[in-house]
Amino acid sequence: MRQHGIATRLLSIYDASIFSLAAFAQTLPHPQYLIPPSIDPLADKNIELPKDEVEKVYEEFKLDRVRPILLQVSRFDRFKDPIGVIRAYRMAKQSNHSLQLVLAGGSADDDPEGEAVLREVQAETAGDPDMHVLLLPPDAHLTINALQRAADVVMQKSLKEGFGLTVTEAMWKGKPVIGGDVGGIRLQIVNHHTGFLVKTPEGAALRIRYLLAREDKLRELGAKAKAFVQENFLITRQLREHLTLMLALLNAGQDRINLSNGNSGVS
Ligand code: UDP
Repeated sequence: MRQHGIATRLLSIYDASIFSLAAFAQTLPHPQYLIPPSIDPLADKNIELPKDEVEKVYEEFKLDRVRPILLQVSRFDRFKDPIGVIRAYRMAKQSNHSLQLVLAGGSADDDPEGEAVLREVQAETAGDPDMHVLLLPPDAHLTINALQRAADVVMQKSLKEGFGLTVTEAMWKGKPVIGGDVGGIRLQIVNHHTGFLVKTPEGAALRIRYLLAREDKLRELGAKAKAFVQENFLITRQLREHLTLMLALLNAGQDRINLSNGNSGVS
């Protein structure tokens, strides 16, 4: 109760709050707006890469160039469900023996829980040369970009998620994403159109098998995913919405906002 009072006092100096998802909205002393995050297509993480940059990751991480790659890029965190991804991979591999799995994440030395999850993942993957656990430095943006481009299918099998920027990043590279049916992943994956939403490793395995067996569908979903990001999740859209919101707040209570004189809208 007291905490609630402090929060209200701290927040009352602000004109509004922005949330990425309606489900995250709170009881607050001011208006709330929904503006989802976005990616910068010109940042190292997302910029178009020459073919040889992508080629480099096959060599560096000993991946087979020809066989299909299933990728999840995530911190080693239980809510990202890396063990669920491994289970899905194992099931899918029974019908597609050539499948390779890449789990890429940061090293977790500053997070005891992350370290425990990483150890579990390493124990689960030991002995299968087609499972690759990559520990990347925090600034490995170009490497992650190249891995997302090298992948055939991308997973984000989260059990709980804020927005899920890795989903946007992979979709922008024209990849179909199989994502957990939670949080902001639901904003991005239109089930059966821009990817697949799943609840279980079994469900994920079914979708992996389907996409690998139907290259036409894999390409179709990937192309729709990219178009969906272009329309909804690039930084230009987020900037436009932030500026529009500021303009609306500055002109609160007015029937119309005149943009023609000096275009600040403030007379
Ligand atoms: N990421 C990274 N290195 C890693 C793992 C993730 O740079 O080893 C990046 C990833 O590309 C994405 C962000 O960290 O841009 C993760 O954002 P997301 O919303 O997917 O998940 P969060 O970690 O915030 O829960």
